Amino acid sequence: MSDNILLHICCGPCSLYCIDDLKQNTSLEVTGYYANPNIHPYEELMRRRGSTISACKAKNIPLIAEDFYNIQQWKAWESSRAERCRMCYTVRAEMTAKKAAELGFEYYTSTLFVSPYQQHDLMKEIFEETGKKYGIKFLYRDFRKGFREGQQQARELGIYRQKYCGCIKSLYGE
Ligand code: SF4
Repeated sequence: MSDNILLHICCGPCSLYCIDDLKQNTSLEVTGYYANPNIHPYEELMRRRGSTISACKAKNIPLIAEDFYNIQQWKAWESSRAERCRMCYTVRAEMTAKKAAELGFEYYTSTLFVSPYQQHDLMKEIFEETGKKYGIKFLYRDFRKGFREGQQQARELGIYRQKYCGCIKSLYGE
């Protein structure tokens, strides 16, 4: 039996290329995990949850889709954007590593690593540290070369593509 990986998914479009890459270039069994309390307002959290469900169906992988929502932690954040994003990556790494440990996964990673707009090296550090904390191996993949391809696939599949990062502050350009 092959090892398995819990893939944190931030949204449908970002997941398409990452799933292809993991299926084609590893022998891991992939399960998606949608857990993004940083996406605001609630309707948007559900819209991206829907895009993730569509993407996982199109790629034929199982998905665990949460609907955790937490606007207060982001709304009340007073420090810099860089520090806010660090907190945001940490929250999602923690949720995913914890879930992976609970369910007995060997590995975890995230579709956040496809985005050219995120702080890639910082995320790598956070996911590595969090994996160690929960006893889950972090599989690092630089998915960024497939960002455009994934967005193109989303267009072709008619999957919703959002226009802002996710939190209430990013909605207003902060
Ligand atoms: S801008 Fe994006 S990564 Fe940064 S805190 Fe907001 S949702 Fe999270």
